Amino acid sequence: MQSFPKVLECISDLSKDQIEKLIHSANRLKSGYVPVGSRNLGRKFTPIVATSFLENSTRTKHSFAIAIKKLGAMYIDFNADTSSLKKGENLEETLLTLHYQGVDLCIIRTSVSGELNQFKKDPPIAIINGGDGINEHPTQALLDLFTMFEEGIDINGKTMAIIGDCKHSRVGHSLTSLIPMFGGKIIFCGPKECLPEDIPANCEATTNVDEAILKSDVLYTLRIQKERHSQKAAYYDNYEEEFGVNLKRLQRLDKKIPVFHPGPVNIGVELDYETIKSDLYLGYKQVTNSVFMRMAILKAMLIDA
Ligand code: ASP
Repeated sequence: MQSFPKVLECISDLSKDQIEKLIHSANRLKSGYVPVGSRNLGRKFTPIVATSFLENSTRTKHSFAIAIKKLGAMYIDFNADTSSLKKGENLEETLLTLHYQGVDLCIIRTSVSGELNQFKKDPPIAIINGGDGINEHPTQALLDLFTMFEEGIDINGKTMAIIGDCKHSRVGHSLTSLIPMFGGKIIFCGPKECLPEDIPANCEATTNVDEAILKSDVLYTLRIQKERHSQKAAYYDNYEEEFGVNLKRLQRLDKKIPVFHPGPVNIGVELDYETIKSDLYLGYKQVTNSVFMRMAILKAMLIDA
């Protein structure tokens, strides 16, 4: 079996078998399983894990911090704004510095798509991509798949509509790799400027949200990534009406299907308040499961590797 990568940059770094093991491990951790020697992850010295978020985050950073602490590793938050990165040091030198200080693994969020790829050949320390520009956000897609498994949603042979800014969303890109790996089909939906340029085999794209919902078994809604657009788009103004998922729309289409969102949600834009408070919405479960999936990933990289 292929060994767990030292740099988890994108979904394709993992085999299907490794992903299934992560889901199994997240499930066990959620049910209270404590890994042997978890106070120091079974090692002589307590591993040190750092987060370095060079872009905003609430969920990802905190759930990693909680996961690290629950596993009994030592946590340091590397504050990029007050670090030497601001003095012009490059990321490689910063990571080498962390390595020589004894840090084992760093979770990095960066606005530069593909920035972590350079470390794959000879990684100074283990790295997890916490979201890189518009490229990927692999741990989010993995926790989404875990949530599907937990909810009894077998995506094999089913269709997921990804509705929103499919083109600029790193979460959308990670799901685009992951869902077909597990036999699912994707319908991309949103304003035409938000649809991917290349539609993978077996997937579809539409600007008609009713059509996407009607053809789907699972809805995955995405925020419009305004911070990644060079200018305001015409569709911003009537997005809710044209592309928003709301309870009225779902009722009119007679669809009672699960609704996912990676957060943060702009309520009244991509989702309405009634949907978020309904049984269909799995966003809070995704948040809960994020801790256990991230624990499973850290465990795989720090202990099982
Ligand atoms: N939190 C996710 C991300 O960092 C989704 C989003 O921001 O829209 O990509």
